[in-house]
Amino acid sequence: MVRRRLTVWGVVQGVGFRPFVYQLAVRHGLTGYVGNDSAGVIVEVQGEAEQVERFVQDLSAHSPPLARVHRVESIERPAIPETVFTIRPSQTTTDRSSSIPADIATCADCLRELFDPTDRRYRYPFINCCHCGPRFTIIRSLPYDRPATTLAGFALCADCEREYHDPANRRFHAQPIACPACGPKVWLESDDATRIERDDAIRTAVRVLDGGGILAVKGIGGFHLACDATNACAVARLRERKGRMDKPFAVLVKDVDMAKRFAAINDDHAAVLTGPERPIVMLERHPGQGGVIDGVAPDLRTIGLMLPYSPLHHLLLGDRPLVMTSGNRSDEPIARDNTEARERLGELADAFLMHDRDIHSACDDSVIRVFAGREYPIRRSRGYAPLPVKLPRSGKSVLAVGGELKATLCVTSGDRAYLGQHLGDVESPDTLAALDRAAEHLLDLFRIAPDRIACDLHPGYLSADWAARFAERRGIPLVRIQHHHAHVASLLVDANVNGTPVLVACFDGTGYGTDGSIWGGEFFLADGDRIERVGHLKYVPLPGGDAAIRRPYRVALAHLCAAGLPWSDDLPCVAASPSAEQRVLRQQLQRNVNCVPTSSMGRLFDAVASLLGVRHVVNFEGQAAMELEALVDEVAESYPFATTGVDPLVLDPRPLLAAIVADLRTRVPVRLIASRFHVTIAEMIRDIAFRLNAPIVGLTGGVFQNVTLLNLVSHRLQADGRTALTHRQVPCNDGGLSLGQAVIAGGIR
Ligand SMILES: [Zn+2]
Ligand SMILES: [Zn+2]
Repeated sequence: MVRRRLTVWGVVQGVGFRPFVYQLAVRHGLTGYVGNDSAGVIVEVQGEAEQVERFVQDLSAHSPPLARVHRVESIERPAIPETVFTIRPSQTTTDRSSSIPADIATCADCLRELFDPTDRRYRYPFINCCHCGPRFTIIRSLPYDRPATTLAGFALCADCEREYHDPANRRFHAQPIACPACGPKVWLESDDATRIERDDAIRTAVRVLDGGGILAVKGIGGFHLACDATNACAVARLRERKGRMDKPFAVLVKDVDMAKRFAAINDDHAAVLTGPERPIVMLERHPGQGGVIDGVAPDLRTIGLMLPYSPLHHLLLGDRPLVMTSGNRSDEPIARDNTEARERLGELADAFLMHDRDIHSACDDSVIRVFAGREYPIRRSRGYAPLPVKLPRSGKSVLAVGGELKATLCVTSGDRAYLGQHLGDVESPDTLAALDRAAEHLLDLFRIAPDRIACDLHPGYLSADWAARFAERRGIPLVRIQHHHAHVASLLVDANVNGTPVLVACFDGTGYGTDGSIWGGEFFLADGDRIERVGHLKYVPLPGGDAAIRRPYRVALAHLCAAGLPWSDDLPCVAASPSAEQRVLRQQLQRNVNCVPTSSMGRLFDAVASLLGVRHVVNFEGQAAMELEALVDEVAESYPFATTGVDPLVLDPRPLLAAIVADLRTRVPVRLIASRFHVTIAEMIRDIAFRLNAPIVGLTGGVFQNVTLLNLVSHRLQADGRTALTHRQVPCNDGGLSLGQAVIAGGIR
């Protein structure tokens, strides 16, 4: 007779782990107990040595589908008189190294019950079990038990109680379980203040959608605005009301078959679409698009598709695709509670499908592209947050706040970095308030008292001001980290590279450089904890700095000027710029007044987009580059460029600009010019890698959301015998910045 005490670390709470352990122990004829602890799951088992051994093997090998066991610690204990195996109630301790599960899409078993007229949860929109349902969005504190969730106020009925306590049941200790008798309820509110309850609410909501109406739907992580994706008027009305000119909308489709009507889908795409995280997946659109109207994603070759992840989606969807966009006006955080939604979305929606299960943490949908057969995150939020990224070693505890756009938070503890949900662009008091709330919640959940706080070097970011106040209040050091250094560190941790020197191409729109200029076309050599800038795109004076970001024609004029090319009216970017503005720009450039030097690659993409007449004014960040990418469709030759300087190397785009202008004048098709431009950028990276003889080349920064470019670069690097390093767990854009800030500030690299 032996007794063993096991401590299991990882994502082991809220994923059916205790019931799994219980059933496993009973099967092996063992006695003892299992309990949640703030450290993870604690198991004590007692029985014959051979059975205990098998139990330990099975524990890791056959754990539930959503569990992620990081580590199991095992110690011998003296045997005690004991006859049964039990599940113990949770205890609270101060160690919070355990992970909180993310929100999980409705499982197949629950779905079957949802549409079974004989089931007591038939058409009940809050059906869930150990293997599915809301998690992070409803958790108020740890350990993860019902009283610590937003379901605390719903007392279980006798039937649910029985399921909850039956170790053989799929709902054994499933914290958010509910049924029509005891759980949350759904209702529909419309303009005339009528309130329709329960299933009638859902049926009426479907009629609102059928009639071309816009429906606000309370979901897992917040409110969505939904409308029929095949109804042009409805989509146009939604755009107008949301103040969102042409940013693409995501579309909710019933299943992979329906998705195939709209986009090209291979097995890798299907796997991501149907995964338990249920992100929005960016896919290549079919030319015909199967009836989804063009207004859903104007001028783009991709479309964002998502499969249903909450029971309510399944009940609403039927056989037509729905536009599903975050319930907010452009650039505001997603609306989270009912009162807030009525206030903020009142003018946008024709009716509200509400419910009384509170959302504790707002969480937008995640967005994923597929690159090289695997997930390539663009926005890491619902379904992924706050799952940790493993660090190469332990460092100081850090709270990192990211930059300005696409902000996320990161807190570290030991060798784990917990990344919070997407917060949006921290440019307004609303998003700053969301950041403040999310920071308090993350620190509280994981019981982390940070040793340091990290933010961007940019002097004008609201998040940096917030970080400075936080540092002062807590009496901890504030560490300001250069934007691209953070990107580089983020990539290296994400790709799990240690101890090998890596050349990193870091291309994005805007990052405040250590020399006070705006960087964004950078090459770094990362070796151990040293990050050295070894190359960059040649500086171009940009009149008005940030004012140029929304008006690519200004960037195009600046690049033409720098290349010594005249502003002739036959060039689309010149024709598109008001002549009064041209005069002012010319003066600014000639006198070098109010001009910020920039090495930004994002701005070079903007300049070329305007030069080609593709996009002169952008309505959302990255729009010009996305539309330029959409044009690339052929194998093309590189344009010339020059590499000068020694330390750092400088890539001079002037020959490139001159060649594009020459192509425009000889009426070379815009598609071919866009293709040649992309190839040229890939060749620039290849050239720097060759000159520095780098065996491993990392690719990070928002420009690499462009998967077309990513493919062109990685093929060239591989052909030269180099390894291309790309992101896997966090976005290459500023959504991944906080991770890099945290590891640098924590002294981990
Ligand atoms: Zn389920
Ligand atoms: Zn019940």
